[in-house]
Amino acid sequence: MKGLCGADAGIKISNALLHFGEEPPLVGKGGSGTIFFTGCPMKCIYCQNMGFSQLGVGVKITEEELANIMLLLQKAGAENINLVTASQYLPHVLKALEIAVKAGLEIPIVWNTSGYDSEEALEKLDGVVDVYLTDIRYTDDETGRKYSKVPDYWSVTQKALKIMYRQVGPFDGKKGMIIRILVLPGFANQAIEALRFIAKELSPQIPVSILRQYMPVFGAKNDPVLGRAVTDEEYEPVLEEAERLNLIGWYQLEERTTVPTKAVPEIHSFLKRKIKVQARGKPL
Ligand code: SF4
Repeated sequence: MKGLCGADAGIKISNALLHFGEEPPLVGKGGSGTIFFTGCPMKCIYCQNMGFSQLGVGVKITEEELANIMLLLQKAGAENINLVTASQYLPHVLKALEIAVKAGLEIPIVWNTSGYDSEEALEKLDGVVDVYLTDIRYTDDETGRKYSKVPDYWSVTQKALKIMYRQVGPFDGKKGMIIRILVLPGFANQAIEALRFIAKELSPQIPVSILRQYMPVFGAKNDPVLGRAVTDEEYEPVLEEAERLNLIGWYQLEERTTVPTKAVPEIHSFLKRKIKVQARGKPL
């Protein structure tokens, strides 16, 4: 039986590779060892990863196999293990991390999330996660209901961000919190509100990553509000507000169309083998 996040009892991932498009300190020289988990608690109509976030595309793996993937990423030079939307597999991920750490995993662990994390989940991550790389997507519940099909995005996320901050503090180059703000067309005001929330309720020391990579895809293509790219007139005031608030971090100058990544051959062939076996419906 599958939950709303799209996950059943096992672990399913869509890919694991070295990612060079994350924030510069997470990429370093070796790239961020990124693992994309299948499923997501949010159902954004503009999701660029629709295949694995909402349609269930991915490969079933065990906790031991996940641990091994982490070790292979480390061996390939990854600067960290970047767990993308992993909350639906939390108990399995914790077990895999335990196995991997016992076997020599020592690079930082990044929890890459929409921010829509429960207090219970975050308690379990306390002391495990080194970096919270979190979004603020909306600053009211109504917009989250409309575009991501979750009833209480901002109510949950405000609490979650405060817990994350209490656990790790601002990012200091190795450990801490980074907040991403994806500027959405028609909602630049919410991006500005998010910046004000960070400065007032959290800390201006938290690096902020302001993104203008939004492109209307899937359900957003014909949406009257989200069916276009962000304009300069919308994006620039967001940057100005970040400057006015003395926030630190990064921003994108223009939309990004390609994401630089590098496959790790052993992981690539392992996942390929798994796909073949699972497509034939044979026991794993
Ligand atoms: S939170 Fe991210 S991965 Fe999840 S549905 Fe929204 S855009 Fe997709």
